[in-house]
Amino acid sequence: VGITGTNGKSTTTALVHHILQTAGVPSLMGGNIGLPILSQEPLPEGGVYVLELSSYQIDLTKHLDCDVVVITNITPDHLERYSTYEEYADAKLRLARIQSLYDLRRPSHKRWCVVSASSKMLRDRFGDLEGRLAQFVTWVDTEAYPEDQSKWPNLQGPHNLENAVLARTACEGLDIDYRLIEQALRTYPGLPHRMERIREKDGVLFVNDSKATNATATAPALAAFPAIRWICGGQAKADNLDECAPFFSNVREAYTIGEASDLFARILAPHIKVAECGDLAHALLRAAHDAQPGETVLLSPACASFDQFTDFEARGDAFRRLVGGL
Ligand code: ADP
Repeated sequence: VGITGTNGKSTTTALVHHILQTAGVPSLMGGNIGLPILSQEPLPEGGVYVLELSSYQIDLTKHLDCDVVVITNITPDHLERYSTYEEYADAKLRLARIQSLYDLRRPSHKRWCVVSASSKMLRDRFGDLEGRLAQFVTWVDTEAYPEDQSKWPNLQGPHNLENAVLARTACEGLDIDYRLIEQALRTYPGLPHRMERIREKDGVLFVNDSKATNATATAPALAAFPAIRWICGGQAKADNLDECAPFFSNVREAYTIGEASDLFARILAPHIKVAECGDLAHALLRAAHDAQPGETVLLSPACASFDQFTDFEARGDAFRRLVGGL
C-alpha cells in the first residue's frame, strides 16, 4: 500500500497498518514514517508493506507497483521545490501512473487507487488522467459517513474522517473483513504530535499538534475545539492564514512565536486578540495563565519549526515537557 498526499499521510499510513495488525495480517510501516522499508526484514508471504511516500520520494522512485495507492488530498505546499502547484500535484499523482493494471500473481485482482474527492486540484488532474488509468479508481467522499466517526475516539475532526474513510477503503481493497476494520478504527491509538491530548489541568486541555506545519493542517485543529488558546508561528510557508480564517471564531486568543510572530500578529489582530510571545515557553506560560476551565491550549503552529527547533518532533516534545512542568 503506497500512501501520499499533502496532509494526512502519516495518520492514514499508521491507520492502515493498525487495521492490518488487528486483522492478523503481517505488516510493516515505513517510508517517510519510521524506518526505511528496505532495511527491514522481509515479511512472510501475504504480508503487506504500508508506505508513506512524500513527493520527494516518489520523484526518486523508478518502479513501485502498489496493490493499493491512496492519495489523501492536495493543497499548495513545497513550492520551493516545484515550479508550479500543478507540477507538485503531478509528482504525487505519479504514484498512480506507475501502478499497473493487474497483479500477475492474482490476475482476477484489479489494482486499487483510492483518492479523496476533497481537493479540486486532485479532481482536475485526475480528470485528465482517468481515461488512461487502468486500475480501479475509487473516489472517497468523506462527508458521506459522519455518523460512524463518533465511535472512533482518536480520529476526531473533519480531517481524520477523511483519513479514516481512506484507510477503510484501502483495506477493503485488500479484502480485510469490514468488522475487523471497524474494530481497528475504534481502537486506533493515534500518533504523537497530531492533535495529541497531553494533559488536562484544572479543566484546561493541552493539545500538541506540532505536526501542523501549514495553514491547511491547522484549520481542522481549530475546527475541533470550541474555545482555544492558540499557539502559532515558526517559519512561515505562506504570507496568509486563509484556510484557518473560517475557524477564528473558536479562538479566544492567539499567542504568536518565532519568525512568523509579527506577520501572524498583523494578520490576526483585526479578527482576534493576539499576544506576540517570541518563543514557545513564554507563549505556553501566558496561554496557560489566561485559560479558563473548558478551554483548550493548542499548539498548532501552521509553520515549519526550523527557526527555533530541529524539527516538528523537537517542537512537540518541548511543548509536552513544558506542559508537564506546569
Ligand atoms: P502528513 O504525514 O501528510 O504530514 P499527518 O497525518 O502527520 O500528515 O498530519 C499532519 C497534520 O495535518 C496534522 O496536524 C493534522 O492535524 C493535519 N491533517 C491530518 N490529516 C489531514 C487531512 N486529511 N486534511 C487536512 N489536514 C490533515
